[in-house]
Amino acid sequence: MTVKIESKCILCVRKAIQEKYCEYHYEAVRSLSDHYEVWKSRYGEISWYDYLSRLQKIKLTGKWVKEVIEIELENIKKNDKKMR
Ligand SMILES: [Zn+2]
Repeated sequence: MTVKIESKCILCVRKAIQEKYCEYHYEAVRSLSDHYEVWKSRYGEISWYDYLSRLQKIKLTGKWVKEVIEIELENIKKNDKKMR
């Protein structure tokens, strides 16, 4: 017998379908990482953090994407501190 834990999206109240995101936020993450590959092949090597910071400055990004960028950047900052 297994107990299934219903996890929630870390960004909203919806059910998480993948890791920590709901379908909308997960979709945003997916399009972000797809775009990351395109960006790298076009402009050369860039870190995930730099890429997200740049996107954050461009005001074209949609609501879901923006929220994902914010939380991802927060996580990277936290992990950075742990490593130091
Ligand atoms: Zn969500």
